[in-house]
Amino acid sequence: MKLPYRVLLLVALVLSFAPVSIDAAPPPSAPETYIVQPGDTLFALATRFRTTVTAIKQLNKLGESDLIQVGQKLLIPPAAAPTTITRHVVQPDETLYRIALRYGTTVRALAQLNDLAHPNLIAPGQALAIPPNADVIKPGILIDPPTARQGGTILIQIARPEIANVTGAFNGKPITFTPSAGYLYALVGISRCAKIGNAPLSVTLTDPYGASVTETASVSIEATAFVIQKLTLPSGKGALLDSALQTREAAQLAALVNKVTPARLWSGAWRQPLYGPVSSAFGTRRSYNGGPVGACGHEGTDFDVDANTPIYAPARGQVVFAGATQIRGNMTVIDHGVGVFSAYYHLAALDASAGQIVEPGTLIGKVGTTGLSTGPHLHWSVFVHGEYVDPLEWTRRAIP
Ligand SMILES: [Zn+2]
Repeated sequence: MKLPYRVLLLVALVLSFAPVSIDAAPPPSAPETYIVQPGDTLFALATRFRTTVTAIKQLNKLGESDLIQVGQKLLIPPAAAPTTITRHVVQPDETLYRIALRYGTTVRALAQLNDLAHPNLIAPGQALAIPPNADVIKPGILIDPPTARQGGTILIQIARPEIANVTGAFNGKPITFTPSAGYLYALVGISRCAKIGNAPLSVTLTDPYGASVTETASVSIEATAFVIQKLTLPSGKGALLDSALQTREAAQLAALVNKVTPARLWSGAWRQPLYGPVSSAFGTRRSYNGGPVGACGHEGTDFDVDANTPIYAPARGQVVFAGATQIRGNMTVIDHGVGVFSAYYHLAALDASAGQIVEPGTLIGKVGTTGLSTGPHLHWSVFVHGEYVDPLEWTRRAIP
């Protein structure tokens, strides 16, 4: 397992100072005094100082209806999130995910720091080292992974209590938050041709009383090393590259996948629709018949397998399209909920029909070479809010 330097450093610290730094109680920190400024709300202060409205009210003996006034002195309770490694004893019914949310960290960081091979297998009574909140970009706002890459999927979590609604935008596009048990999350698909550099993230958190606070951050987008592939199409299929047809079919597909069904239907990491050699990786930049290299690369992962190889649903979802198209051939599209879709092109046979709920492993079709295709293969695409993302990342990571 390759660990980032930061995590290795943490592990080294844990190993060398384990009896002291893990078991030692955090130093007692006194509440600090704050003078209320124009525009301040209890909610905004709680967010800024990484605490809760309830904790501020209790400390200052404020009643339910008390308002704060400019110039008023408020005691601010110590921040809830750890700034050094602390220890947590797993309680009955706790999952690593809930523990990560509680401490403002991520499952990945916990698994790496504690060298957990199977993050789902933790037992009550087990002691875990809690890392400092490495992936926390603002109090109560987590991003996983902390650095985005072209074609990747990022998960943004709002782990603060007392939030009624969250809206936001990433890189100029609105993002949709989904409430879950005690937190909210959003999935963002990073374009495979996204500009490299820092992209702005902004989220507006609103409490149940209508007070809101906007937090901004920038997320680094790193380059993915995509390969270049030269393809020769048999004569007769060149006509399918007609740009008007391409535009029309892309619009037909976009209309299918630019929807947000409120319920998340899948859980955990996905399986692959089939297993076989990858003949064209996601993002591969292609040149057809000696033409120019496409600017934005392959929209999915191609598997080089025999005709009629069975194709299985990778995760739970509902089939929203199963039919013929000119470029993509026989195509199946599955809605997995919360803006996530998967699509399968060039099929010889369609074994699931529109409206059908599929489970991981449900037969959905068989491999073929229909549409714009040079031989039997499966093309697999995954969309996050209409953006093509690397499908194989979904088989390696449980998102969320
Ligand atoms: Zn393909």
